[in-house]
Amino acid sequence: MDLDAYRHNAESFITELMREYYRHYAGLKDSFEIEAIYAAHEGLFRRDSVEAVRELDARITEDGDERRRARMLLDFAVEGYVGEATKAVEEELARAEAALAIEVGDDRIGFREAPVVQANEADPGRRAEIERALLTATDELLGSHYRERIERQHACATELGWPSYADMCEHCKGIDLHALAGQTAAFTRDSAASYPRVLEPELRRTLGIGFRELRRADLPRFFRAAEQDGHFPAAKLTNSFADTMRGLGIDVSAQGGVTFDIGSRPNKSPRAFCAPVRVPGEVYLVVSPIGGRDDYATLFHEGGHTEHSANVDPGLPFEFRRLGDNSISETYAFLIQHLVEDPEWLSQRLGVQDPSDLVAHAKAQRFVYLRRYSGKIAYELDLHGAGANGWGTLADRYAELLGTALGIEWPTETFLADVDEGFYCACYLRAWALETHLRSYLREQFGPAWFESREAGEVLRGLWHDGQRADAEELLGELTGARLDFGVVLTDLDLSD
Ligand SMILES: [Zn+2]
Repeated sequence: MDLDAYRHNAESFITELMREYYRHYAGLKDSFEIEAIYAAHEGLFRRDSVEAVRELDARITEDGDERRRARMLLDFAVEGYVGEATKAVEEELARAEAALAIEVGDDRIGFREAPVVQANEADPGRRAEIERALLTATDELLGSHYRERIERQHACATELGWPSYADMCEHCKGIDLHALAGQTAAFTRDSAASYPRVLEPELRRTLGIGFRELRRADLPRFFRAAEQDGHFPAAKLTNSFADTMRGLGIDVSAQGGVTFDIGSRPNKSPRAFCAPVRVPGEVYLVVSPIGGRDDYATLFHEGGHTEHSANVDPGLPFEFRRLGDNSISETYAFLIQHLVEDPEWLSQRLGVQDPSDLVAHAKAQRFVYLRRYSGKIAYELDLHGAGANGWGTLADRYAELLGTALGIEWPTETFLADVDEGFYCACYLRAWALETHLRSYLREQFGPAWFESREAGEVLRGLWHDGQRADAEELLGELTGARLDFGVVLTDLDLSD
């Protein structure tokens, strides 16, 4: 196999796919034509190509950059192989979800729009009605598509000779998923007593209910934090990001290769996103300023991805610029995102006089996410493991694991829909742990207002320069010498009082 040609072809594929993604979701183009892009690069994901990359990965046993590159390329090839096998069902699912509407009372609500309606619904009874209709639709109208997607993923792993989809992901991504699940289980156990104590006052203050009354249908409303809207005006959104970057010595408006897409278009995604078409050199940060805390959090998260991509060393090999451990890019995204819940940043950048309510809410929300993803990885290992037995058992296991993690009665209906492809949940979990280390490192070196320090910006740019060459363990080892363990988030939550 001509490895250089394969790499070149792979990079073109990602560039074309990203450009199509950007144009569609920025509202510049109605259709979303990925079929033709796959067809133009069909050689990348043929069985023989995947096997050739796999042989390369098996041949290089000596640690170093060549080994990293081979493993990253294998992950890319395998992901594309699964992508080819599932793209028809993905498209069908997207069509079905987009066309589906649920009936709540006299209203028809779009299936995809329903969580937003739920988040803006002040009446708990109506939130529960929406939830019921959503769950029924998920199970009865979309369930067969979700099931087919998982079955095809599993079939791919078997075809390629892995004992299970989980084994395949573990090898290709180089992540010890079982060790991670051990750490998250310890976190779930060690934080169990504090969890209701932290949530109770926040639920009372924002929703007027106690922890024991909380239902899954209330979570979108709780996260929405409508009472905070006044602190997060739409008019300040893009400037607050640009000013924050300037504090770090980065002039976003003068940054080559970064396009801030803030224009309003009818079909533009309401949620901010980052589209790294070329890394570095052509990165889009797409925003439709709406206002509210969540809008800020999303823009800052995507802004973190954008700065990472834009600052990658153009001389790095393709694999380090475009592939590798996504926990790394997520770490930078969460680092910047978490500024919008940082008391220092809230007072300096948004002039919030007393940020304590905002900080307490953010802590409760983060607690829910950490426990939810801890439950998710345990479940996804069951779902995708070699010993998975029967859909009925898995649905019960899903409800049990998530219900226990969150202290809420959890439905079985979403057990095949609420699944991250390729164990992306592991990237989030690792990113939360690594971000905690990186944030405390920056605070130690540059003080609580580290985001105002050009030197801190220099440190970040140095890290961003490296793309995703190092994985999360290696990066932390190089930065502080510490060992990556999810337990660090428990200390960060500061549950002492
Ligand atoms: Zn992200």
